[in-house]
Amino acid sequence: MRLDVVSIFPEYLSPLDLSLIGKARRDGLLDLRVHDLRDFAHDRHQSVDDTPYGGGAGMVMKPQPWAEALAHVAGSDDGGAAVAGSDDPAPARPRLIVPGPGGVPFSQALARELAGEPWLAFACGRYEGIDERVYEHAAQDLGLEVTVVSLGDYVLNGGEVAVLAIVEAVARLLPGVIGNAESLVEESHEDGLLEYPVYTKPSSWESASGVRRDVPPVLLSGDHGRIAAWRHQQRLERTAARRPDLLHASQAMPGAAATGAL
Ligand code: SAM
Repeated sequence: MRLDVVSIFPEYLSPLDLSLIGKARRDGLLDLRVHDLRDFAHDRHQSVDDTPYGGGAGMVMKPQPWAEALAHVAGSDDGGAAVAGSDDPAPARPRLIVPGPGGVPFSQALARELAGEPWLAFACGRYEGIDERVYEHAAQDLGLEVTVVSLGDYVLNGGEVAVLAIVEAVARLLPGVIGNAESLVEESHEDGLLEYPVYTKPSSWESASGVRRDVPPVLLSGDHGRIAAWRHQQRLERTAARRPDLLHASQAMPGAAATGAL
C-alpha cells in the first residue's frame, strides 16, 4: 500500500518509523512518503496561511500550496508504478483523506475499508483548517475521492495526530503487518463488541498493597468450550457496561443489556 502525507510538520510523522509500522515499511509492505507543504509555497516566507474572509479568529490555509502539493502527490513521478506489497499497478489516483472534526467518525469499519485501498493520501490541516475550495479542486479538477475523517468529537491542533492513528489502524490490517493475524479477529470493534478481559502469568498476583488477585479459574481449566463461552459473556457485559450504544446500534446481541453488567 502506498501512503502520502502532506503536512507543515513532517517530523510529526516520524513515529511511523517505529514498531510494526516501521517494520512494514522496511519490509516493503508500506510505501509511506511524507511531504512538506511549505515546499509548495513560493513566497519569501513560504507562507501557507492567511486571514479568513468574513473575519473571525485564527488563520486559514491557503489554496495555492495545497493545490500544488496535491497535484504533485497525485500525479507524482512514479504514480503508475507498482504499489508496495501488491502485484497490481497503482491506480491513477490516491483516495484523499482529510482529517477534520467535521468529518465522518473514524471506526474499525472505515479502517477496514481504507485497508482495501491501494493508495491513500492525507492532507493535514492546521490553524482553522484548509480553504474550502481545495476540497472542490481535489475532487473536481484532480479527480480524487475526498473523505473528511474525524478522530472524535473534540478539536486537535492539527491533522497529524489523526493521521498517525488512522495509518496505524489501517496498516495493521494489511496482510503481513501483524505477525499473528488471528489476533485481529477477536479484537474490540471487529464485530460490534468490545474484547474480553485478558490475563497473563502469574495466575495469582499480590500487589504491593497486599491484595491478592487471581485469574478467573475458567481460564486455567483447559476447557476451550467453557473458556469461549466465558469470554463471550464477558464481551457482552463489558460492552453493555461501557458502550451500550454499540449494542443498540448493532442489535446483534438481543438481551445483552440484561446480562447484569457491572
Ligand atoms: N476550525 C476547525 C473546526 O472547528 O472544525 C478546527 C481546526 S483544528 C484547530 C486544525 C486541524 O486539526 C484541522 O484542520 C484538522 O486537520 C485537525 N483536527 C482537529 N480536530 C480533529 C479531529 N477531531 N479529527 C481529525 N482531525 C482533527
